[in-house]
Amino acid sequence: MKIVIKVGTSTLAHATGRLNIRRVEHLVKVLSDLKNSGHQLILVSSGAIGMGVGKLNLPGRPTDMPTKQAAAAVGQCELMYIYDQMFSQYSHTVAQILLTREDINFSERRQNFENIMNRLLDLNALPIINENDAVATDEVGVSTTIGENDTLSAVVACCVDADLLVLLSDIDGLYTADPRKDPHATLIPVVETITPSLEELAGAPGSSLGTGGMATKLKAAEAAMEHGFDMVIANGQRPEMLYDIVSGKPVGTRFVGRRTSI
Ligand code: GLU
Repeated sequence: MKIVIKVGTSTLAHATGRLNIRRVEHLVKVLSDLKNSGHQLILVSSGAIGMGVGKLNLPGRPTDMPTKQAAAAVGQCELMYIYDQMFSQYSHTVAQILLTREDINFSERRQNFENIMNRLLDLNALPIINENDAVATDEVGVSTTIGENDTLSAVVACCVDADLLVLLSDIDGLYTADPRKDPHATLIPVVETITPSLEELAGAPGSSLGTGGMATKLKAAEAAMEHGFDMVIANGQRPEMLYDIVSGKPVGTRFVGRRTSI
């Protein structure tokens, strides 16, 4: 299978903002093993800004655009250095691709992106993708950002015609209510259709059940289902769950892609 896996900062870093070494080592090990077993993998990884904040010893996440860009430039470097080192231990070669919205919106640039992805996968490299936060900015009237990696990973998965998209988050999946507030909230294991009531459940962007935002995850799921492949939301705390997800076992919430009948 061709699988796109998105990891959020909550999976990669401790609450202090520093790298969660044990988690990342574990994740890299499982991904390397899945690749060894014959799957094609693409990683969409956040963490650039967070790592940059740590490396530049900034007091917190920057609010002004130039500092955010600077943190991303420093942090992206660090992030790839870590991935390169860790994946090398298992003899896997990583490749970095940084995208802005324009790379996706303009058909020629999108074609360029698709070409390099296909070539990298042919060459058995492991593409690691992030938004190019060092240059993508959100100035008034000129927005070149995609904004968050739930959407980015869905776009990437559609571009490469993936078989599966996995969003590793800090929540187990989609719940019937906010599990942090409602003790009766239960996990929804399978979603076949995204109904207005599900959308309501996910809430507004950023104010949702997961810190990454359930609304953007639902939008990503919509794109995946429409394109015909499954998307799974699962907790990134235990990367070995990826084995079960890939073999179709019930983990987290699976949004079932629309199969076109022959
Ligand atoms: N591109 C951002 C970063 O690397 C993360 C965006 C997201 O968390 O969705 O820091």
